[in-house]
Amino acid sequence: MRFVLLLVGLVVAWPVAAAETFDVLHHEVRVRPDFATKTIAGTQVVRFRSLADGLDTLSFTGNALRVTASVDGAALVGATIADGRWVFRLPRAMRRGQVARLVVSFAGAAPKGLVFEGGTVSTTYSTCDAMICDLERPGDKATLDFELTLPTGSHAVAPGRLRDVRTVGGEQVWRWRERRAMPAYLFGFAGGAFERHVLDAGRPSLAVLAKDVEAAKVRALFGDTRAMLSFFEGKSGVKFGEPSYTQVLLAGSAAQEAVAHSTIGMAEIDPILQDAHEDWVIAHELSHQWWGNAVTCADWSELWLNEGFAVFMTAAWKEAKWGRADYERELQLANKRWMAAKESGFDVPLSWKGAYPSLKLKRAMAYAKAVVFLDTLRRELGERAFWRGVRLYTRANWGGVVTARDLQRAMEQSSKRDLSHLFVTWVHGS
Ligand SMILES: [Zn+2]
Repeated sequence: MRFVLLLVGLVVAWPVAAAETFDVLHHEVRVRPDFATKTIAGTQVVRFRSLADGLDTLSFTGNALRVTASVDGAALVGATIADGRWVFRLPRAMRRGQVARLVVSFAGAAPKGLVFEGGTVSTTYSTCDAMICDLERPGDKATLDFELTLPTGSHAVAPGRLRDVRTVGGEQVWRWRERRAMPAYLFGFAGGAFERHVLDAGRPSLAVLAKDVEAAKVRALFGDTRAMLSFFEGKSGVKFGEPSYTQVLLAGSAAQEAVAHSTIGMAEIDPILQDAHEDWVIAHELSHQWWGNAVTCADWSELWLNEGFAVFMTAAWKEAKWGRADYERELQLANKRWMAAKESGFDVPLSWKGAYPSLKLKRAMAYAKAVVFLDTLRRELGERAFWRGVRLYTRANWGGVVTARDLQRAMEQSSKRDLSHLFVTWVHGS
């Protein structure tokens, strides 16, 4: 059970070989959740560049919203759902390199993407349920302006730097700007009748949004966040980039990273109160700020670079905080999970473009086997070369997208060894 919990965190769709026909440059999103009807309404501008001559359609993750769209604010665009995806038919074919703006209005329910509860709203992994974006292309990172209209007296978090909060007609309009290009699955937000607990006003400031949880309990649950953040800064060689990090504590189950916040379920974090060693969910989601958010897998066949690193860095944190036995225990749990998959007849290289029979087996590879591989690299290379490789890899790819070749390059550079045999065996396959 515990290991099942360890693997919660990022549920992804099967890899879809989406043709790279356009590049999203910037999203401008304005949304207004309706707490009474549990729906959302908004407008969005998607600035994009054509990567091919003759581009005549745009494709995004499908959702249940009612949508109307135009290009550059004028010509209307046909919008239909086909094979579970939005297809926007452009009025004129575009030439390679041309930039245009898809202007969208939307309204409706976001059943997978939004959780409404007791006057609060928060996103899940399915962010593209509540706006127009693409979960299947993590490598298409874009900047974001985000505006959220909420009842007066709310607290909220969304991607980027909070620019201002204005009162308009008895409501509050919150505006954020994210200048770092980010994958769309991180475009989460949370807002409404939360209380805001400031853990630490340093830089970055650390806050928790929670509802009806005493301040002392919030401190007991999240008290180690600063120490973890410093630990990951040290291991990555890169400072946390945002002015603040917020953890949104929800009733029930949740474990999802976003641009500069994470949603964490009481079910995942509550065991800390009985056993302080049960701190994995804070570490796992926080570590994604480096591995996943800033250094992002180029496509979902490389998911293990996001999730394997998050699980591995959680084990490394536990080793630093609690001792070697806790690290070994994490590795044993991962190994057990991978072995169970193997015994069931499924074992594939870590960078895998094929299908997985189940989400469980996908996680047994991208989370569990990936951690065993990173531990193997660590033992093979030794402490100095391995951690130097982690820093090289993280720094060299900061803000960008990665494939396994980038990790191999960094580890070969740091160890001055040819690691192709190891990477073929574990990662690429023969
Ligand atoms: Zn994760």
